[in-house]
Order: sequence, then C-alpha cells, then structure tokens
Amino acid sequence: MEFDFSYQFSPEEMPPPQKKRIGLFGSTGSIGKQTLDVVRSNPDLFSISILTAYSNHEMLIEQALAFMPAVVVITDTSRYKAVHEALSGKGIKVMAGEAALEEAASMDCYDLMMAAIVGFAGLKPTLSAIEAGKTIALANKETLVVAGDVVMKRAAEKGISIIPVDSEHSAIFQCLVGEENNPIEKIILTASGGPFVGKKPNYLVNVKREHAIAHPNWSMGAKISIDSSTLMNKGLEMIEAKWLFNLQPNQIEVVIHPQSIIHSMVQFQDNSIKAQMGLPDMKLPIQYAMAYPRRIKSDFPRFNFTKSHQLTFDPPDIKTFRNLGLAMTALHKGGNLPCILNAANELAVFGFLRNRLGFLDMTEVIEQTMNNTPFIAEPTLQEYLDSDGEARNFAASLINL
Ligand code: NAD
Ligand code: MG
Repeated sequence: MEFDFSYQFSPEEMPPPQKKRIGLFGSTGSIGKQTLDVVRSNPDLFSISILTAYSNHEMLIEQALAFMPAVVVITDTSRYKAVHEALSGKGIKVMAGEAALEEAASMDCYDLMMAAIVGFAGLKPTLSAIEAGKTIALANKETLVVAGDVVMKRAAEKGISIIPVDSEHSAIFQCLVGEENNPIEKIILTASGGPFVGKKPNYLVNVKREHAIAHPNWSMGAKISIDSSTLMNKGLEMIEAKWLFNLQPNQIEVVIHPQSIIHSMVQFQDNSIKAQMGLPDMKLPIQYAMAYPRRIKSDFPRFNFTKSHQLTFDPPDIKTFRNLGLAMTALHKGGNLPCILNAANELAVFGFLRNRLGFLDMTEVIEQTMNNTPFIAEPTLQEYLDSDGEARNFAASLINL
C-alpha cells in the first residue's frame, strides 16, 4: 500500500501562525511571570490583551506599561485608584473587584486564556471564558478539582480546547497527540516527592514554613509549594487528570521520581509506555499550551543523557503523607468530596503559611472537614459553590482564623 504524504507541508511552506492574543489571569504569580517571559521571547506569535492581579498593584502597573494590554483587572478594590492613576491616558481599561475578572474573561479582546490564578478563585473566570468560546491554557488545577465535571461538560458543549499547563498533564497531553483512537490503560503521574521525601512524622511535626516552601526542583508560588511538600499537590493532580483525560480512578497511578526528568507517562493497551521528558522548567509546558498544536523553538537548557544522571522511581508513602491518601479517597468517592477537600486544604495551607497550624495539623483540618461537610453525589455548579463555602467555614472554625 502506498501512503500519500502530499498533504504535508515542508517547514518553509507552513502557513505563518496567527498571532495569539493572550488573556493572562494571575499575571503577577509564578506562572504569570513565566508566561510573560514566553511572550517577550516570541513577540511575533503572542501579544498580551488582559492582565490581572489580586493585590500586587505595583507589579501589575509595571507589566501593563511593558505589554500595553487592552484591559487590566486588580481584584483588591482598595488598589484601584493607584492602578487607574498610573495607567491613565494609556488607552488601557482598568477594572477592579472579583466580578470584573468574569467580565474581562468574557471580552472579545483576546483569544486564549492563561488560567494562572491560584485556588478556587480561578473557577468563575475560567467558566466565563468557556462561555465566551475561548481556548483555555489551564494552570489552575483547583478549577478541575472543585467542579471538573461541570467545566469539562461545558467546554465540550462549546467545542473548546482545555490545554493543560501543569507539567504532568502537559506531559500526558503530549504523549496522547496522535493517539486519539487508542484507549489509555493507565497514566503514571510522577512526583518529585517535595523537600521532605523519605522523611517520617517525627521529623515532619517540627517542619516550619521556610522549610516547606523551598522546593528542590521547581520555583513556584507559596500555595503550590506547600501542596508539593505535603503531596496534596499530587492528589489534586490525580483528580485533575481524571477530568482532563476522562479516566477512572484506578487508571491513575503516582510514582515518586525525585529528579523530575520524566514529567509523566501513559501506558496503552498494548503495554507500550510513552513518557515526556526534559529538565524541569515550567516555561516549556506554558509555551507548549500557548503555541499548541505547534512547537516553537526555545533556548532553554537541554538535558544531556551522557552526563551521569540517575532516574529513580519509588512508591509514594501515603502513611506518612496522609494528604495524598485523603485526596485519593476524594478521587474515588467523587461527588462534592474533592471540592470539600480543596476548600479545607486552601484554608489549612493559609493557616500553615501564617504559622497558625503545624505541618501535620493541616491533615487533621482536611480530614475533619471532609467528615463533617454534607456529601452530595451529583452536585450542580451552585452546590459546588455552596459546598466550598460550607467547607471553608468549618475548616476556619478549626483553625481559629
Ligand atoms: P502564585 O501564588 O505565584 O500566583 C497566583 C496569581 O493569582 C497571582 O497573580 C495572584 O495575584 C493571583 N491571585 C491570587 N489569589 C487571587 C484571588 N483570590 N483572586 C484573583 N487573583 C488571585 O501561584 P502560581 O504558583 O503561579 O500558581 C498558579 C496556578 O498554577 C495554581 O493553581 C497552581 O497550582 C498552578 N501551577 C503552578 C505551577 C508553578 O510552577 N508555579 C505549576 C503547575 C501548576
Ligand atoms: Mg504539577
């Protein structure tokens, strides 16, 4: 049989890509700043149309003057005046408050949302962008943990692509390109294990904020750094993967791989395993999601196989890192339990970051909140929002916030 390759373009013949206009939600964070680095390195491919920040108005102003977006949003309304004054006469619309995020997300001025807000706060703007028909590059994993069924269903109905930015999910997504008709047997999410890999509870009980926040391989925002140190991050990622790739809980495995070179793997029905590899650098999954389906050149440092590297793999210790076990319970039970887990975890991390809770106390707060917030098997969006509120109130009462 002869194959017809005539449809293929040579690189010179490839049609020039259209410049994508990026709506960057959470521009002052770790993912946000790295997204701007990617835009800065590829001015022919990307421009910035929206920038948003919670309260860091100085950085937001600086970013706005450098990238000249159509719109900026500052969530903390007390900073509106400062932003408005600094950007007056520049042709940039300045908005403030939580509702302004949703309003901006529904605007015509951009094509692709980089969803880089941290936590539950990212859910509503992302839903608003889906309604407006935007492509979503999703860094904010909590959106899928809280209401993954609602988000994926609405995206499917609107014919919208959700392209993962989380490095593990980007790895799986990249392994699945060209495999659309081949069922997945299972996926293997790799975890660095965080700064306390191999440690036991008698060590963890004394861990302080400064230890937990310093991740060995990745430089990230405060919340995800703590989640990585407790392994909750991997639990949230299991739930994220379930929705992104339409998997059953028993198709999702976790393996500790401290070098963070293999970013995750897919095993197919013929027992072939595909892995996506590289040095740990979030700019790669960020730019992959922004440029998809193309790959664009980068000057990031290359992995060298001939240098002495060891790639090691171990099972996770869920007896010590109980947060991962709790997330697995939520993954298997489903309903609003992942939403409750997420809300309790956000508060517990908040409490730990402010030295109100010890490292191991975070697990107690999450477990008790899961046991004391009413379970709903098939929640509506409103019920997810209500469960989040109830779980937050309960967790806050335990922490004395
Ligand atoms: P970060 O804390 O560094 O930044 C968060 C951004 O969201 C900031 O711009 C902040 O102003 C904004 N924000 C915070 N709270 C807000 C609120 N209530 N309302 C509106 N805006 C708010 O966080 P990050 O590390 O960049 O992570 C962002 C998201 O990406 C998280 O969901 C995280 O799990 C995910 N993620 C991050 C990394 C990483 O390497 N940093 C990797 C994978 C996934
Ligand atoms: Mg990740």
